[in-house]
Amino acid sequence: MSTNSDALQALIAGRFPDTRGRFGPFGGRYVPETLIPALERLAEGVRTHLHDTEFRQALGSELATWVGRPTALTYAGRLSAEWGAHIWLKREDLAHTGAHKINNALGQALLAQRLGARRIVAETGAGQHGVATAAACARLGLPCTVYMGAIDMERQSPNVGRMRLLGAQVVPVTSGDLTLRAAIDEALREWVSDPLGTYYLLGSAVGPHPYPYLVRELQAIIGREARAQFQEAAARLPDAVIACVGGGSNAIGMFHAFVPDRGVEIIGIEAGGRGAMLGGNAATLSFGRPGVLHGSYSMLLQDADGQIQETHSVSAGLDYPGVGPEHALLAQSGRVRYETAGDEESLAAVRALCELEGILPALESAHALAGARRWARAHAGGTVVVCLSGRGDKDMPTFQQTLLAERP
Ligand SMILES: *Cc1c(COP(=O)(O)O)cnc(C)c1O
Repeated sequence: MSTNSDALQALIAGRFPDTRGRFGPFGGRYVPETLIPALERLAEGVRTHLHDTEFRQALGSELATWVGRPTALTYAGRLSAEWGAHIWLKREDLAHTGAHKINNALGQALLAQRLGARRIVAETGAGQHGVATAAACARLGLPCTVYMGAIDMERQSPNVGRMRLLGAQVVPVTSGDLTLRAAIDEALREWVSDPLGTYYLLGSAVGPHPYPYLVRELQAIIGREARAQFQEAAARLPDAVIACVGGGSNAIGMFHAFVPDRGVEIIGIEAGGRGAMLGGNAATLSFGRPGVLHGSYSMLLQDADGQIQETHSVSAGLDYPGVGPEHALLAQSGRVRYETAGDEESLAAVRALCELEGILPALESAHALAGARRWARAHAGGTVVVCLSGRGDKDMPTFQQTLLAERP
């Protein structure tokens, strides 16, 4: 990759990942030797099944009749009047289990069946991916074990209950940092111990090859639908699309179909938290440096010695020190601009969407809305499609302590 414009050309031509699972310099497989055969088998399974007619029909049928796709594209008229630009919402909050995560969980669970797996292991931080995975496994009759940091289990106890009702075994992880990072390590260990019978169902566009590619392909339905729905409604393309970025799965899903549309501005919004200070945010592409985390070379938040930094965001789903490798390349190539939205402006966006549109968004999605508000100020009369990645019911405890505490 000699220049950014070479990377841009290759991105537009859809040439990533390459045969080694790389997105330019990013991605790849940085894992113990013991995991390579399992990843090779998975990559082979992806090649065989993912774009095969039988698989596509089975997935398409489940997406239509169980997940509720296509999700709506909603024109936010009152919000548009208030913010000064035309705001459209891609309604992943209407997907089964309340967010985009089900697109990936269902797709991978169907793949696991075809690979002959007898059980699924997954990790979860805030619990949303665990709930989606537990639901998909129940639907397909696959036993499911979800590893979750002991601290996260306490913070997200309603989701622990949901997973258990859906038949999953939730295992507390009491090692390491007691949160998502330790849970991922534990799920990987479990996979290595039984790589044939177990399928590791990863929750975002991160991790070693082929996961970033697999998750992108399963989430790309968001942008494909949104692009077609917008064209149907407006007979042209939007000026911009915006999505929030944690690990990057809803964002890559939204962006993928629009990457070749050079006239469409693409913006990813990371968690700006309390600000730019060390440990005050989870804005990996804005403040991170290249490094290896969870089997992939990408950007990550680390200190001068390469130690992973503490992160903060009001939104649990964005509170992750890494980001998917394709986003690192999209940033480097200049095709996507990554900005931050802080805790306060994101909470303000929750209130605006509730009061003006009757939609309670997830705190993660509210970051994308806050980004759209800023975009609207600079592009009066323009048109932007925002990925509303999930619904906010799960965030009620945070809203009680913030938005509702201010207003007795
Ligand atoms: C998990 C989650 C996110 C962040 O994950 P990505 O992989 O970056 O999409 C965003 N929105 C919602 C509603 C989530 O549940």
